[in-house]
Amino acid sequence: MHNNIAERLTSAYQQIAEIIAKCQREPSTAQLIAVSKTKPVADILAAYQAGHRQFGENYVQELVEKATFFKDKSDIQWHFIGPIQSNKTRDIASFASVVHSIDRLKIAERLSAQRPTHLPPLKVLIQVNISEEASKAGILSQDVLAFADELVKYPNLQLIGLMAIPEPAKDGDNHIAFSRMQQLSQQLQQRHPSACELSMGMSDDWPQALTFGATMIRLGTAIFGQREPKKHE
Ligand SMILES: *Cc1c(COP(=O)(O)O)cnc(C)c1O
Repeated sequence: MHNNIAERLTSAYQQIAEIIAKCQREPSTAQLIAVSKTKPVADILAAYQAGHRQFGENYVQELVEKATFFKDKSDIQWHFIGPIQSNKTRDIASFASVVHSIDRLKIAERLSAQRPTHLPPLKVLIQVNISEEASKAGILSQDVLAFADELVKYPNLQLIGLMAIPEPAKDGDNHIAFSRMQQLSQQLQQRHPSACELSMGMSDDWPQALTFGATMIRLGTAIFGQREPKKHE
């Protein structure tokens, strides 16, 4: 099982490198975020021992438990990728290095105010509701630039880019959503040049996301295997 995690990581790194080379991009422009939600610390340790350092979590309680468990491994970066309730912002501000799921200024304001002063600014990405699903989190595309202009005012946050979870296309082809995100990212970078990260692509669609400029792909199942259904999933 744990050997599998190392093997899956190695094979993912290889496939990423091949796609990135075909796109004539620098290898450093693509990061794999290993999404460890619902998985035990033993699995994270296996990935860590295989050299992996970027982990994604969806639930605040799990983020706190795992970050506390691994507090001696200060080179781990925890990416918070789940929905954020305002009464949970303090824990996220304390334990995460990167937050992918910003879609409300009220949350941003709290994260900035609660970011511990001994830590660098919290890196944040704006979550975009790119498929315009009524029930889904995220800012609509047309509101992203104005939202970004407000977000960059918070002193303890650093806007690094955009994130999306496109509605899965029926034929498995998400190129329309990915291409819209790529365009939106270019528009954002004209106003905020350092906001160059694009977090998109999951286990089922990440190769396509990379060809549309994804710089952070978030892989759960592909690295850690199937998840048990969880009550809040
Ligand atoms: C669970 C999750 C992932 C990983 O999903 P897989 O399909 O298992 O790769 C990525 N991003 C977000 C926001 C998630 O909630």
